[in-house]
Amino acid sequence: MEPISALALLAASPFVGSFLGTLILRLPADRPVVGGRSQCDACGERLGVRDLVPLLSWATARGRCRHCGTALSPFYPAIELAAVAVAAWCLAIFPPELLWPSALLGWTLLALAEIDRRHFWLPDRLVLPLIAFGLVVRGWQGSEPLITGSIGAAAGYLSLSLIDWTYRRLRGRPGLGQGDAKLFAAAGAWSGWAGLPEILLIGAFASILLAFLRTGGRGVPSADTAVPFGPGLAVGTWLVWSFGPVFISA
Ligand SMILES: [Zn+2]
Repeated sequence: MEPISALALLAASPFVGSFLGTLILRLPADRPVVGGRSQCDACGERLGVRDLVPLLSWATARGRCRHCGTALSPFYPAIELAAVAVAAWCLAIFPPELLWPSALLGWTLLALAEIDRRHFWLPDRLVLPLIAFGLVVRGWQGSEPLITGSIGAAAGYLSLSLIDWTYRRLRGRPGLGQGDAKLFAAAGAWSGWAGLPEILLIGAFASILLAFLRTGGRGVPSADTAVPFGPGLAVGTWLVWSFGPVFISA
């Protein structure tokens, strides 16, 4: 049973990646996410089955539309590869019973991080189910994990909301968003409250790194450099879910 489950996860992952790509492009544009890609953006030619096989289509067509030859964005193969990487990571780290829940967490975090990086937006439609699913997974592990996860969800939401409120009072403009507070709630639901300090720390470091990348190497980012916090929080959540708190233990 276990090898079958592992194989199924690996086999499904590029298709999940393809779906995540559609989600990332269509959710912010408020377009329906069901129904795959239908046509080439350049020439409008309808895409057939062989144009939509994750990774393989890209590789065999050398990244170009089969009809008009326009170079296609590497976005889809990149996100498909990332989804495969999440699955491989899960196979390496997690016991069989946590394989699929962990992969679903990783894939959702991947979509959230990319949407937030592009649009400074963490959609409720992804974040809120992630909170609920985290509590279900912990409840399934026992009553104590469920309690520490519930405390984590509440503490995550309240702490970032408080930081946001304080920042607004001091600076007169929003720093973090409600989406960040909800994502931190999801982080707490999955990791338990004890994981929150480390997730915040990793999130802060990752965001500083992202700020440097955004300046394109042209100097030091200022306090006004706009950086989404979601990607950092996603990285922190993923690492602490994978390894538990390493640096800070309660
Ligand atoms: Zn074309």
